[in-house]
Amino acid sequence: MSRSDKAREYRYLYRTKAWYALRKRQLLGSPLCNMCNDLGLAVAATVVDHTKPHKGDETLFYDPANLQSLCKPCHDGPKQSDEILRENFELDDEGWPLRRRRKKVAPLKFPGAPKQRAGGGP
Ligand SMILES: [Zn+2]
Repeated sequence: MSRSDKAREYRYLYRTKAWYALRKRQLLGSPLCNMCNDLGLAVAATVVDHTKPHKGDETLFYDPANLQSLCKPCHDGPKQSDEILRENFELDDEGWPLRRRRKKVAPLKFPGAPKQRAGGGP
């Protein structure tokens, strides 16, 4: 079985209500990218990453302590984001990163998340 077959097997976890709620809570609690933050950059996080790969393990998958907020470039690969950061990490006279400062922090959106309903619940 290839890695992608394996990944397809647990992709359903990302469509559960519990995950949507967890993801939302994570992004609201930590709206900035964790890896960019380490470099002193304030970048809106759009991806919730599992610090320890869950490989389909639901305990790891749903563990809030195993989550971190990341921007897409950081999530898509350390190498790729390293390159992006290096490129973006020239500072101007005031110490602001030259390119990143022009980027507006996008409002948080949760595409695919179930619509909030007043009251109700299971
Ligand atoms: Zn980042």
